[in-house]
Amino acid sequence: MPRLETQKPTPPLWQDGWYSFARRLESPNFGARPTNVQPELIVIHSISLPPGEFGTGQVQRLFTNQLDWDAHDYFRSIRGLKVSAHFFITRDGQLWQFVSCNDRAWHAGESSHRGKDNCNDYSVGIELEGLEGLFFENVQYETLSSLSAALLQAYPITQVAGHEHIALGRKQDPGAGFDWPVVRRSLGLGAASFPAGVTPDEATLRPRFP
Ligand SMILES: [Zn+2]
Repeated sequence: MPRLETQKPTPPLWQDGWYSFARRLESPNFGARPTNVQPELIVIHSISLPPGEFGTGQVQRLFTNQLDWDAHDYFRSIRGLKVSAHFFITRDGQLWQFVSCNDRAWHAGESSHRGKDNCNDYSVGIELEGLEGLFFENVQYETLSSLSAALLQAYPITQVAGHEHIALGRKQDPGAGFDWPVVRRSLGLGAASFPAGVTPDEATLRPRFP
């Protein structure tokens, strides 16, 4: 009897909160989400280590507690810091994942979104390699868009905000160089899903993007 051609099954997009298209590098810096709490917010950050230097691999080291604190003056200033984000998108669009989205990563710190404190409890944190005030690369937006779309499919996410919006006065990332309308258009979300003022209203969007 001839053998049937077997097709390799397509891997699922998500497995236990891990995204199939990300490089997985597990961070010990995470905890459980509160009972019955699911992510409903995406928090966008920017980071580079040392600040303004890209492609160093140091962000991955920071998030896995492998950073050599004495290797740079700036690292000394953050000695002992234990943080993580769910995702990191490098300047060339590579996607890394450190914490399962089912768990709580340590990216927001003291924070509040629309009256709800402790954003880490109910958010997914995405770091873009960059510097506050500078622009980001198109390929980073492409990775961010496909990742965000996959997150919206898997979780009851209705809101997207920057770290600067949930830690007012304390944080400035991702900053003025981040193109919020690009994210909004790619996700097809309404203005109500974003902080006030970061995306043009529909009337402005329509003529430019019919
Ligand atoms: Zn941040």
